[in-house]
Amino acid sequence: MHVTFLGTSGAVPTTQRNPSAVMVRREGERFLFDAAEGTQRQMMRFQTGFNVSHVFVTHLHGDHVLGLPGLVQTWDFNDREEPLAIHTPAGTRNRIEELVTVAGNSPSYPIRVHEVSAGDVALDREDFEIRAIEVDHRATAVGYAVVEDDRKGRFDREKAENDLGISPGPEYSKLHNGEPVELDDGTVVEPEQVVGPPRPGRRVVYTGDTRPIDSVVEAAEDADLLIHDATFAEDRRERAGQTGHATAKQAAEIANRAGAKRLALTHVSTRYAGQSDRLETEAREVFEGERAFLPDDGDELDVPFPDAEE
Ligand SMILES: [Zn+2]
Ligand SMILES: [Zn+2]
Repeated sequence: MHVTFLGTSGAVPTTQRNPSAVMVRREGERFLFDAAEGTQRQMMRFQTGFNVSHVFVTHLHGDHVLGLPGLVQTWDFNDREEPLAIHTPAGTRNRIEELVTVAGNSPSYPIRVHEVSAGDVALDREDFEIRAIEVDHRATAVGYAVVEDDRKGRFDREKAENDLGISPGPEYSKLHNGEPVELDDGTVVEPEQVVGPPRPGRRVVYTGDTRPIDSVVEAAEDADLLIHDATFAEDRRERAGQTGHATAKQAAEIANRAGAKRLALTHVSTRYAGQSDRLETEAREVFEGERAFLPDDGDELDVPFPDAEE
């Protein structure tokens, strides 16, 4: 799984940062989380590829959705035929439909708008799902969690072949799929003898705009990557609360409680242009070392499987 930070600025663009958008690529598919003004250009600039199947909108503040009409129109110019799914918080379908057909634009490919509430599975696939999670902002909003299923345990080929005398063949996949196998001499081999415990899949959580909230701690439990609102530094903690945002340190506290492996701070206020170190430093006071970072636009992150280093 591959994450590209397309826009890391809060509310308005700066010369260095575009407002919110995150691209997640997984096995050839592209998922876009929020689409601020300028997102399509960021996709070209950072060469993420353009073929997005699903867009996940956290809320309808302009700095998260104003890129949608342009993207939708460009796809139309490119003769897109595949349907586009847009997931958006409950009660916002009409406004999304208005937005993508703005100025009389009516794309020739199908656009399906799905409303989601916290707890809903927005996208259900064979080996992963994307869930809507509860956040706390000034508008109707959700965050999203990409959650992969557990994978099969490791197959101990050496043990199967050398200790148990099973020659390579269809028995291996039977055992790996959890079925017992009977050998020629009548011995029954149980899968547990040669297959390790299931290995966890990956989990990436994107909050969009939010105050610190317990539901994100739950959703981001053991997450490989938490991408959290970090609009302000501690000097504006009160303002963060008033405006429905978090400070970098609050984001770090959430990541810490969740046991997340890495924390990406995003939606940074223009107030901190040129002093992003400050947000990182404050986050790292509570969330160990370099696991907390403030990405620049265009930064990419490969999310390895939790057991990858074994
Ligand atoms: Zn915002
Ligand atoms: Zn907002």
